[in-house]
Amino acid sequence: MKPDKKELLQAIFEVYEEWTDNKKFACQEGCAACCTQNVTMTAVEGELLLQHIREHKLEKWFADRLQNGNREITKRPVMTHNAFARNCLKGVETNMGDPPRQQKACLFLAEDNSCKVYGARPFGCRCFSSLEDCRTSGIAKQPDELLAINTVTMQVIEHLGQKEFWGNIYDVLLALCSLTGNNDIAGLFHKKSQLTAANTRLLRAEPLPGFLIMPEEQENVGEYLEALFKKEIQGKSLEHILNNK
Ligand code: SF4
Ligand code: SF4
Repeated sequence: MKPDKKELLQAIFEVYEEWTDNKKFACQEGCAACCTQNVTMTAVEGELLLQHIREHKLEKWFADRLQNGNREITKRPVMTHNAFARNCLKGVETNMGDPPRQQKACLFLAEDNSCKVYGARPFGCRCFSSLEDCRTSGIAKQPDELLAINTVTMQVIEHLGQKEFWGNIYDVLLALCSLTGNNDIAGLFHKKSQLTAANTRLLRAEPLPGFLIMPEEQENVGEYLEALFKKEIQGKSLEHILNNK
């Protein structure tokens, strides 16, 4: 049987977590200044999140958070990572717009600042980290080689979810709830128009056009990508599976 996309996604998360050395970061439990409402993700990450919500019987909590939570997304992405890379590789000038203004706390944060969906959080959250505590420094500080690894990982995940929803975490979740297969959760929403409206705010994930890697990052990122593509899932490499979808 072919592995499903959620299995492939988890395999990608595993390689990323093996590769990144979390010990050197200032991040610690209860620190959540980076948990804002501007996280982006693919539909496959959304399906993993919905699976976690069902497994932990959080459906009612989830619907309540999305319907009644203080939602204020200050910036929706204008372009996916692979669309941006495609433009850059073609030499097309690309304006990604201003960074988000005020950033409200993520709706999935519990009162003690822990994440209620931690085990299934999307890659956009997994790659949050900082060498200095950003609550005091005001900004996350990541080494350049990690930023490059984060970017290529986002691109591979987008490739995995190509042609499907891509965008803000809540928009993706709401739009997924409007699809058959998620009727159990959709039934908990009072306004069904909220679900279908989310669809119109989303972009579509694109296939990988190539990577944007600086010459000084080639060696490190190349080794990471080799480990990622060699990762075996049900006896086949991730590279083989992604190329033969
Ligand atoms: S990235 Fe910054 S705010 Fe987030 S856990 Fe690490 S130190 Fe805390
Ligand atoms: S999903 Fe969890 S880890 Fe991600 S921003 Fe929200 S609270 Fe933070």
